[in-house]
Amino acid sequence: MTPESRTHRLAIVPGDGIGPEVTASALDVLNAAEATFGFTTERETFAAGAQHYRATGELFSSDIATRLRAHDAILFGSMGDPSVAPGVLERGFILAMRQEFRQAVNLRPVRLYPGVETPIAGLTPERCDLVIIRENTEGAYVGRGSTVHAGTPMAVAVQESVNTRAGIERVVDYAFRLASVRRKRLTLCHKTNILVEAGRLWQETVTDLAARYPDVETDYVHVDAMCFHLPIAPERFDVVVTDNLFGDIITDLGAVIQGGLGVAASANLNLDGSAPSMFEAIHGSAPDIAGQGIANPAGAILSLALCLAHLGEAQAACAIETAVVAALGATAGQRVGTRDLGRQIADALAHVGTPDLPLLQGGSVMTAMTLAARS
Ligand code: ATP
Repeated sequence: MTPESRTHRLAIVPGDGIGPEVTASALDVLNAAEATFGFTTERETFAAGAQHYRATGELFSSDIATRLRAHDAILFGSMGDPSVAPGVLERGFILAMRQEFRQAVNLRPVRLYPGVETPIAGLTPERCDLVIIRENTEGAYVGRGSTVHAGTPMAVAVQESVNTRAGIERVVDYAFRLASVRRKRLTLCHKTNILVEAGRLWQETVTDLAARYPDVETDYVHVDAMCFHLPIAPERFDVVVTDNLFGDIITDLGAVIQGGLGVAASANLNLDGSAPSMFEAIHGSAPDIAGQGIANPAGAILSLALCLAHLGEAQAACAIETAVVAALGATAGQRVGTRDLGRQIADALAHVGTPDLPLLQGGSVMTAMTLAARS
């Protein structure tokens, strides 16, 4: 690898609420990772979110899009505030960015880390290590539909779902690539018995692509059955691929299983290199705890790890995951501030790989992502 390719241009979008707090912790960890693993970043911070929108009216404007596009990846805090009507920032910034930057894959690891409390009785970390791949730009989230006779007893609302072979194929192919470097098992989650048109296209695509990945075993689970199996038998799954709407729902279930919103990370991946991918903790802006310095930064820090894995810095990514696990284990049951936990994780990085802190074993999504990005 040339030294040039180890300089990564990062756009930082802290956003609203706890977004800036957890992002500051992630940047503490990034500084430590650069010092330990020998790569560098050039960072530009962007003003965006509720306050910026109230002051300027700007959402995902063409100016912001052009400036963001010049970066290799985007680290995103969170967006949303009670002062802005629900949906304005979500549709006007986040969904707009996903579409414009063709972030076709939403990747969410569901891993229960040792020391993290799960509401699922008897669940152990060894049994819970899977990745959900959600289609991120199509389905019911394209915003197509219409209402006639609105506000009357005859009102009719039609909400369409758009599913294209090309859109499904790029996501399913990525899911196969990921599965082929993990435990080699891919599960399609849909509702093919009821949503027959979309379901057929998804199933056909999986069946067709399976021929290219003969070492990956495939199976199928209806989304309602998934809500039953995921909490009680997550060990059944390695990589789960699903559409936008079902993915939205089952990934939140996954976050509950792995111990809550504070520890859940995500990646929004552009697969064709035409625009940057975006990395964010799955929690929202949490206005109820914003400004108190008590938000858990683990999800944001693990999202940074996903970002580094995607940029080819697998060693740093795996080390960050290990350091997060060590810090979560060491602080289990204690109240630790956002910045303190971040600093603890940053400090632990230098010890990863020593007898004091062996590299976390298991089917790390970090290594798999780096390999899948290259294949
Ligand atoms: P959004 O619609 O933006 O997702 P929301 O209010 O539905 O917002 P969150 O902002 O994620 O969802 O907050 C849900 C709950 O989880 C809140 O009580 C919040 O305090 C808590 N929460 C979210 N993130 C964290 C975190 N990192 N650490 C601790 N608690 C959190």
